[in-house]
Amino acid sequence: MVRKLQAQGISHPGVLGAMQIVERHRFVDTALANQAYEDTSLPIGLGQTISKPSVVARMLELLCQGREGRIGRVLDIGTGCGYQAAVLSHLVQEVYSIERLRALHEKARDNLRAFRLANVHLLFGDGMAGYAQGAPYAGIVAAAGGNDVPQAWIEQLAVGGRLVAPAVTDSGQQHLIVIERHAHGFTRSVLEPVLFVPLKSGVS
Ligand code: SAH
Repeated sequence: MVRKLQAQGISHPGVLGAMQIVERHRFVDTALANQAYEDTSLPIGLGQTISKPSVVARMLELLCQGREGRIGRVLDIGTGCGYQAAVLSHLVQEVYSIERLRALHEKARDNLRAFRLANVHLLFGDGMAGYAQGAPYAGIVAAAGGNDVPQAWIEQLAVGGRLVAPAVTDSGQQHLIVIERHAHGFTRSVLEPVLFVPLKSGVS
């Protein structure tokens, strides 16, 4: 899987290393385990999916690019099965990962138990409001996309921090958006089109 990621242009050693360590097959049903190292999204229940490895790698590379060593606290919106949170735990100091569906929050807790990742904090709640208690964040990464990037996420970004999230742009299509906070403002870049599950409000 890691060789395929390299062939697709992923070069960040930390990201490749973290994806080498975390066994993706441990986050999907046994019946799907034989597909776990293919570049495909897979169902994780409740109509949600674990993102494709190449998409996880791309987002985490964007998050870490040009930054030395482990970055600080990161907010991961949409825990799902917990895979991305596990990968992040090897790249950043603290991971706050929030999920709005209780059954998936619990599934992630079960999946992650055996990994004993002391720097991953799983939260149950509506990630559209971010998670103010952990702010400011050196990074925010979202695995679900809405019509825009919620203002709360932008407010919870530290100076020098970076947000990577899917959002629908004026074209009507979902794209990857990168927002960086500087001492005196923000820069926003619109990257390639993507296809993430919808960002929904409230919990269930
Ligand atoms: N990173 C996950 C991907 C899961 S798919 C993984 O590695 O498995 C995206 C997840 O975002 C879904 O589980 C969905 O329930 C969740 N989600 C959607 N809107 C949300 C919100 N407002 N707050 C928290 N989670 C949300």
